[in-house]
Amino acid sequence: MQRVGFGYDVHRLVEGRELRLGGIVVPFARGLAGHSDADVLLHAITDALLGAAALGDIGTHFPPSDARWQGADSRLLLAEAMRVVAAQGWHIDNIDSTIVAEQPRLGPHIPAMRREIARVLGIAENQISVKAKTTEGLGFTGTGEGMAAYAVAMIGRP
Ligand code: MG
Repeated sequence: MQRVGFGYDVHRLVEGRELRLGGIVVPFARGLAGHSDADVLLHAITDALLGAAALGDIGTHFPPSDARWQGADSRLLLAEAMRVVAAQGWHIDNIDSTIVAEQPRLGPHIPAMRREIARVLGIAENQISVKAKTTEGLGFTGTGEGMAAYAVAMIGRP
């Protein structure tokens, strides 16, 4: 049996925060704001995984009202989502994702993101795809007000 899940997330870009994206630190003048480390890509992937298994979403598992997740490393949230999904017998077939950001140029950082996401999930690098797009200056991503990310996850079990 196979199931597909979809995830989407948005965070605001602000001064004075480290940019955490895809589980790594990307050098940039601004960072994403949020209750956790605001890693927009890992949040989209976490929601895609939970969605594929019909196990709710990141907000139900890690509510912003819970002080435990204040400033949390999103890799821990992703690992916990994987644990919950795997506990029901699911494995990951593959994940595809897209980050939407005007700046910085993300291409050079994608190999490190794939490596780190694969490590956290215990899968091979060729099972995780990360892409980056701009929106040609249009909308909140184009103006640099924020970043968005989309992800799909295919999971399977016998
Ligand atoms: Mg988020």
